[in-house]
Amino acid sequence: MAQAQALQAQSGVLPARVISVTGRDEAALVHVAELRGDPALRVEYVDAVDPRYPRSEKWVAILSTQFGCPVGCLMCEAGGWYRGNLSVDEILWQVDSVVFGRYPDGRVPSGKFKVQFARMGEPSLNPAVLQALRELRTRYDAPGLIPCVATTAPCSASRWFSDLRDLKRELYTGGAFQLQFSVNSTDEGIRDRVMPVKKWRMEDIARYGEDFFLAGDRKVVLNFALAKGWPLSVPRLAAVFDPERFIVKITPLNPTDRAAEEGMATVLYTDREHACDRVVDELSARGFETIISIGSDEEMAIRSNCGQAVAVGRAAQGFQGRPESL
Ligand code: SF4
Repeated sequence: MAQAQALQAQSGVLPARVISVTGRDEAALVHVAELRGDPALRVEYVDAVDPRYPRSEKWVAILSTQFGCPVGCLMCEAGGWYRGNLSVDEILWQVDSVVFGRYPDGRVPSGKFKVQFARMGEPSLNPAVLQALRELRTRYDAPGLIPCVATTAPCSASRWFSDLRDLKRELYTGGAFQLQFSVNSTDEGIRDRVMPVKKWRMEDIARYGEDFFLAGDRKVVLNFALAKGWPLSVPRLAAVFDPERFIVKITPLNPTDRAAEEGMATVLYTDREHACDRVVDELSARGFETIISIGSDEEMAIRSNCGQAVAVGRAAQGFQGRPESL
């Protein structure tokens, strides 16, 4: 209790203020906050529940790790501008904001409390994420805590990934950590076009995952946002990845303004039988577990996809910018 009060007081000192909260408590609340007193430095973070479960069973906080993102994925609103890294305190302030907003004593009773480093920013390009993961371990009384890191695996972050593996082994054993790679297609040319950063090939991800995964861990997630013209070849996937260590997650390509500008569209809704169900069957035949994760219409309506909330605010303020090169 005393620790929770101290953390709350500390959070209050940080120059950060919430600009807006949109959405619905029973689905997702998207927060936009301004940091360092600078209107150009806005981040978004989300407090969400999975509609299938009560909050007492599963609760999700989704954090930003950078101001915008230097990777510049074609479909992502966060990739259109970049202003640098958040500090450890700024990352954790987002978690404090949602935790103490609901549980002033810092006790999170949810069976699973997922803290996803998956909103604005490429977490592996911010060294402060590792320290935030370290501090998160004991920051709250949250026995259900499961940090989740989603990444495109930039080559320049190889050292960061080694440190992440060591940190997971030290602090988050026995299934208390989730790592997700954005793969998106088994065609490396398409991957390069969609995620324009020098990044690990699938073989590199497979090698790292083999080393990262230990008995009792959650399987490493390979995420594919299925879109028209982005092939997912199951034979190719199976030739590279071990189904004992990797699980495949299929999501729709989020309907962002940038995706529309680039002429990209998901095939999950329009051609689900061909694009998804058949792939799932093929994956299953090769021993892969598959998760299909489709956001609700309401989720789309409250713009709870990566970078959208801040992008709207920036456009209204007249900010412009392109990613700096890596
Ligand atoms: S999808 Fe992720 S890595 Fe890609 S630009 Fe957006 S925030 Fe960055």
